[in-house]
Amino acid sequence: MKKHKINFFLFFIILYSFSGFSQVGNFPLSKYHLKISEDNLRIVEVKASIVAQEPYLEMNPWGIPPEIKEGWAKFVDIKSISDENGHAINYNWNNVSKKWELEIAKNSKINLIYQVRLSHDNYNWDAGGGIDGRPTVWADNTIFWTTAGLFVYSGDEISKKTEITFDVPENWKVSTAWVKLSDLKFAAKNIDELVHNLLMIGRHEERLVKLDNMSITIATPSNFKHRIDLIQQSLEKVLPAYKDIFGELPTANYLVCASKNTIQDGEAYTNSFHQMFLDKDLEYNKMVWANTLAHEMFHYWNGTNFLYSDDYEGNYWFSEGFTNYYSSLTLLRTGIISEEDYLRFLAFQFSRINASQALSKEKISLVAAGKKKIDNWHFIYGGGTTMAFILDVKIRTITKGQRSLDDFMKVLYSKYGKLGKPISLEIQIEELNHLTNSDFRPFFNKYITGKTSALEVILSACDKAGLAVSYFQSEFYLTARKDKINSIYRSIIKPLKSE
Ligand SMILES: [Zn+2]
Repeated sequence: MKKHKINFFLFFIILYSFSGFSQVGNFPLSKYHLKISEDNLRIVEVKASIVAQEPYLEMNPWGIPPEIKEGWAKFVDIKSISDENGHAINYNWNNVSKKWELEIAKNSKINLIYQVRLSHDNYNWDAGGGIDGRPTVWADNTIFWTTAGLFVYSGDEISKKTEITFDVPENWKVSTAWVKLSDLKFAAKNIDELVHNLLMIGRHEERLVKLDNMSITIATPSNFKHRIDLIQQSLEKVLPAYKDIFGELPTANYLVCASKNTIQDGEAYTNSFHQMFLDKDLEYNKMVWANTLAHEMFHYWNGTNFLYSDDYEGNYWFSEGFTNYYSSLTLLRTGIISEEDYLRFLAFQFSRINASQALSKEKISLVAAGKKKIDNWHFIYGGGTTMAFILDVKIRTITKGQRSLDDFMKVLYSKYGKLGKPISLEIQIEELNHLTNSDFRPFFNKYITGKTSALEVILSACDKAGLAVSYFQSEFYLTARKDKINSIYRSIIKPLKSE
C-alpha cells in the first residue's frame, strides 16, 4: 500500500505562527555525532550537544507499531546527560508521556550520549506502516534507518538547525535527505527534516539527479544496483514534468531509497521516500513500479511537504487522488508508459469509484471516507483520481483550453504550498472559481462533500474529452476517439514544455 504519515510538525508551524514564539532563530546549532563500526552494524553510538527547549527529551512518535509501548525509545539506551560544565543531569523515563524527564530549566544546553540498537526488524511492522519504514540491515551489509529511530531531541523549535556528522568505516557512504556539507557531514534545516526522513549507510550504490536547485540522491543496496540506471532515467524524465506542473522546482535535497524485496510498497517522508521493488520483469510492469516512484515523488509537493490541509484525513481524496492522477499522466507525458497502459489505468480508477459507490451499503462522501482510509482505499484513490480527471476536463472546457488542472496546481503551489499555508476545501473551490470564472461549489457539494454517484459525471467528462467509454457494472473500458484529433484528452496527455 502506498501511504505517508501525518506531517505532525505542520501543526507546530501553525501553532507558532499564532503564538508569536519569540525565540525562533536564537538557538545555537544542535550537533549529533553518530558512530557505526564494522564489528556491529546494529549499534549506533550517538553523542549530541543540543539545547533542551523543554525539560524533557523525546523521539518522533510516528511510524512505529502501537504495541511497542515505549515507541522508538525502546531501542535507545541513554548513557549520560550532562550540562555545559560536565555535571550529570538527573533524568527518568516517563512511561505515560513517553519522554525522558530532565531536572533542568527550559532552554538549557546539554550534552547527551546514547546508544541505539537496531533490532526493529525482529518486530512485525504492519501496524507501524509496513516494512518499508522499518530500520534493517540488508543482506549485503547496507544499513537502512528511518531517522525517527535515531534522534533524541527536545522541543519542536522549528527553525532549529542541526549538524549531523558520521563516523563510519573507510569507504562507506552515508546517503541522506539533508544538505551535504562534506562526505560525512550534513545539515538538517529543522527538526522535521531531522526526525522524519531516511538514511542509507554502507557500501551501497549512489546516484545524483540534479535539476535547477533540486538534488535527488538515489541510493540502492548492492543487490539492486543493476536497477539504479533505470530509476535514475525515470526520475530524470519525471522531474522536469513536475517542474512544468508546479511552475518551478524548490531548492531542496531529496533522497530516494530503492531496495529489492518480495513485496512492492513505498513510503514518503519529509524529503525522502523508500520504494521496495520486485526485481522481476521491470520492463513490463512500469505501470506499477514507475507509477509508485512517480507517486511518492509527487507527494513531496502534494501531501507531505507543500500542499496540505488542516483536515489531513478529509483531504486524502486530493492528496492521494491528485497524486495518482499526475503520477500516471506524467508517465504517459514523458513516454515511460504507453497510452494503452494509461487508459487501462484511468478506466480502473473509474471502476474503483463506481464499484465503491454502487456496492456500498452506506453511502459516504469522499471527504468523510478519508476518516477510514483503509476501509475506503479504492474509493479514495479511485475517486480522487477520477475527480482530478473530471476537474481537468471541466477547467479545459469552461476556459476553452486556456486553462487546465496544471494551472490549478501552479496556483495552489505558489499561493499556498510555497508559503506554508494550508489548502482547505474552501480555498480549492475559491481558486477553481477564480481560475475559470465560474462556480465549482455545486460540483463539490455533490461529489466531494456529497454522496452523489459519479457515474453520470464520469460519462459526460469522457464524452467532452473525446474518450469513448464502454461499461458494464463495475467494468470500464476507454478508447481515444480516432475522429477527435484535437480533443481535450489529446491536450491533457500532450507532453509539457519540459526542458
Ligand atoms: Zn500516496
